[in-house]
Amino acid sequence: MTKYVFTTGGVLSSVGKGAVTSSVGKILQVRGFTVTVIKIDPYLNYDSGTMNPYMHGEVFVTENGGETDLDLGSYERFLNIDIEKINNITTGQVYWQVIDRERRGDFLGACVQIIPHISDEIKRRIRLVAERSKVDVVLVECGGTVGDIEALPFYEAFRQMKADEGESNTMVVHVALVPWLEATGEYKTKPLQHSVQELRRVGLPPDVIMARSRDVLPDGPLRKISLFGSVPLRNVFCSVDVESIYELPIILDKQGLGEVVCDRLRLPHTLARWDNWEQIVDTLKNPKHEVKIAMCGKYAELSDSYISINEALKHAGGAAGTRVLIDWIEAEVFEGKDNCKEQLAEHDGVLVPGGFGSRGAEGKIAAIRFARECGVPFLGICYGFQLATVEFARGVVGLEGANSTEIDEKSPHPVIDLLPEQRGVTRKGGTMRLGAYPISVKRDSLAWRLYGHEVIYERHRHRYEVNPEYWEKLTGAGLVFSGSTMDGSRIEILELPDHFFFFATQFHPEFKSRPGRPDPAYYGFVKACLEKKLGKSKPEIPVLGVDYPAAFTTLGS
Ligand code: GLN
Repeated sequence: MTKYVFTTGGVLSSVGKGAVTSSVGKILQVRGFTVTVIKIDPYLNYDSGTMNPYMHGEVFVTENGGETDLDLGSYERFLNIDIEKINNITTGQVYWQVIDRERRGDFLGACVQIIPHISDEIKRRIRLVAERSKVDVVLVECGGTVGDIEALPFYEAFRQMKADEGESNTMVVHVALVPWLEATGEYKTKPLQHSVQELRRVGLPPDVIMARSRDVLPDGPLRKISLFGSVPLRNVFCSVDVESIYELPIILDKQGLGEVVCDRLRLPHTLARWDNWEQIVDTLKNPKHEVKIAMCGKYAELSDSYISINEALKHAGGAAGTRVLIDWIEAEVFEGKDNCKEQLAEHDGVLVPGGFGSRGAEGKIAAIRFARECGVPFLGICYGFQLATVEFARGVVGLEGANSTEIDEKSPHPVIDLLPEQRGVTRKGGTMRLGAYPISVKRDSLAWRLYGHEVIYERHRHRYEVNPEYWEKLTGAGLVFSGSTMDGSRIEILELPDHFFFFATQFHPEFKSRPGRPDPAYYGFVKACLEKKLGKSKPEIPVLGVDYPAAFTTLGS
């Protein structure tokens, strides 16, 4: 019988529920139990695809093409599993389904209500994940903070599931902030106490209380939390500030979380095998070298907008023994000014990430030009790949006014244009080319050396592509298209063989990067940045040869 762990948050958002949920998962995984994770987002959007990354952070893309909450990315990285799009449940999806059924007549004669109709639909969706994944434990994280009106139906569903599934098959982990008060020099537990009261009010007394504090709490506050939270002292834990987020599961297990969770869920106490994970954390924490890269994007103020890229650079850095310092540069600063060189000269590499729209595009193109002309390692992702094509068309092929039609519909040289199947698509939600597709890699190219496979599976999220009418002109001038769709009808990878390291992908390799299993493109880039810094004339690119599991779901559906 599947067991469920529900994670709730208290006091404020961004309290690290995702890291705690992932940690509980890891703690179970190293003991030999299988897990998956559901993220609940109590907002009305159907999915994250239409939200602003500056406010909500990155849109994470799953293997099967879901545009989901960035926490799913965190679960995949911690647990080294692929998660499906049904693992991200929103209020929008739940109400949509119930109202659709009402229109079909499924509830004829009944008054359709939040309880039981909405709560039943929430439970159905949670159980569907359990059925499909067949794991031992399903972790369910509810976004937001207890007390939010919009999350009430989800808490109600959890409450009902506690009764339906039985005492030993469900548990509640509550994560809440315990602030340190500088003026009096003490930790304050009152906000946490109030959040526990709120949780009780909705019928969810916590089994484990996780204090989010900057350090391990002293005995006094721990006892207070136990007393007012009505949990034994051994069920109170501290999610502390850590150097590497991947260290958290180890720290929490040392505090005894594994034993408490196994006891509570009546799971056998098997041996926890941490050695592999500890080794990975160790490489991430103790690099020998350091490189500094310029990330030229939009939304540069909120690092969560590019969280998978940040993490992919960390994973690659860990494998290359290198700390990667990221300098966020709002690409707009390069527009209309000739200041690219001064700003970028102190960096070991330039990365242009994915993006949309015209703001900042010319600045990104200026940064790409600098990297190409000065032999600085360059990695372009999605929009960065498309803008590298535009820059090459203008700067090398000499096509004046070359552009993407996303930026300039009347460009005389639309080197980047809408995908044919996107013509006529007007609805914005879930209509891009999404999810994993196979890519054919050209033999003896840089891509082939990096990936070590002739066919790779990578995740996409785009509407535009390299215009086939310009392929010949571009390749004639020295651009190499080293990856394409299996039928050769669209370009997936480009590179410049005479450059130190100039590599760009239409897909988003960061979504499949994991600690201990970095993505080859990021790994190659970080290696190249380091070797350039160390004064090598040519980078040594080893064949990493990552083994990809066959795409496990219907592609892009
Ligand atoms: N805006 C571009 C497109 O839609 C690139 C998208 C992206 O970078 N994710 O094709």
